[in-house]
Amino acid sequence: MKLILNLLLLAGCLSGAEVGKMQTVADMPQHEVVAEVPQAVQGTPRNVILMIGDGMSSEHVWAAWICNGGKLNVELLPVTGFSRTFSANRLVTDSAAGGTALACGEKTDNGMLGQTPEGKALSSLAAIYAAAPYHKKVGLVVTKAITDATPAAFYAHTASRKNTAEIARQLCESGIEVVVGGGASAFSSQQMEQLGAQDAFVLLAAEGDCDYAAKRGDFLPRYTRKALELLESAPNGFFLMIEGSKIDMASHEADARRAVEETLDFDRALGEVLKWMQSHPDTLLVVTADHQTGGLVIHDGSVKERKVKATFATTSHTGVAVPIYATGCGADVFTGVMDNTQVPRKILQVSKK
Ligand SMILES: [Zn+2]
Repeated sequence: MKLILNLLLLAGCLSGAEVGKMQTVADMPQHEVVAEVPQAVQGTPRNVILMIGDGMSSEHVWAAWICNGGKLNVELLPVTGFSRTFSANRLVTDSAAGGTALACGEKTDNGMLGQTPEGKALSSLAAIYAAAPYHKKVGLVVTKAITDATPAAFYAHTASRKNTAEIARQLCESGIEVVVGGGASAFSSQQMEQLGAQDAFVLLAAEGDCDYAAKRGDFLPRYTRKALELLESAPNGFFLMIEGSKIDMASHEADARRAVEETLDFDRALGEVLKWMQSHPDTLLVVTADHQTGGLVIHDGSVKERKVKATFATTSHTGVAVPIYATGCGADVFTGVMDNTQVPRKILQVSKK
């Protein structure tokens, strides 16, 4: 009987995923938020952590806040701002141009990675921090393929996000020390060896994208914690990019439950970062999105009942600004409204040696 009920619930949940259709999201797994958040302080950060919720709008955050009973780690960050997400050639960006803006501080055309529309290669935060004078270690932790647009913007230069083989080749040559996500099928066994050379930690847990959070379990929070443990002993600190990659995918599918579930999972990973920052206050943490996906609308609900009634307006990205949240060393500069390109530029500005 219980199985039949569950199947009916599942069918109901799946059939609810449709643009314009009212969906009720309730009974989500709840999590506690951290007791203390490091405040924004002046100074040069030793470590820099950039968390990107792919497709995550303020509405995704609010829906997750309501479904978690009126609490969320991201809400505790003391500095907030907005990031304008348009690309060089479109008001509505894709993840390649959006990722390039956040990684390299330059607008490019949709579909392009780590280069200007004219084809000039751009340096990403990952490459800049790995080189002199910083010599920091670098990590990427994501839940889609590691060759997908957002992580690729941090190490690849190519005219098309679809050049997966070329993107994989460039990751192998990047020297990035912590590589966690999906996308194993893009790499030959020889390339896997090359990736893991010099004691890099490499975990490609799926052939393609990792599963949705309901099946993936605590993958993102767990490997966020693991990445921090691996990188914290780096002599000159580290740069770590963590992506809640599938908020976007769930929203493309107009699936409110999954979109909230992925946002909650991203917030649990953030909780791990905040806990770790208690003992590592010389760290800058910036949380933002590359764009908004789906035009999520919250129509009704109840914080007490941890329930929202929501619709999606589209299965595409939209042209609105996305939120920025920051804390830690140098975080003060992330207040106000800025272009997405300003995010890495400001990160570098506060890290200046
Ligand atoms: Zn998308």
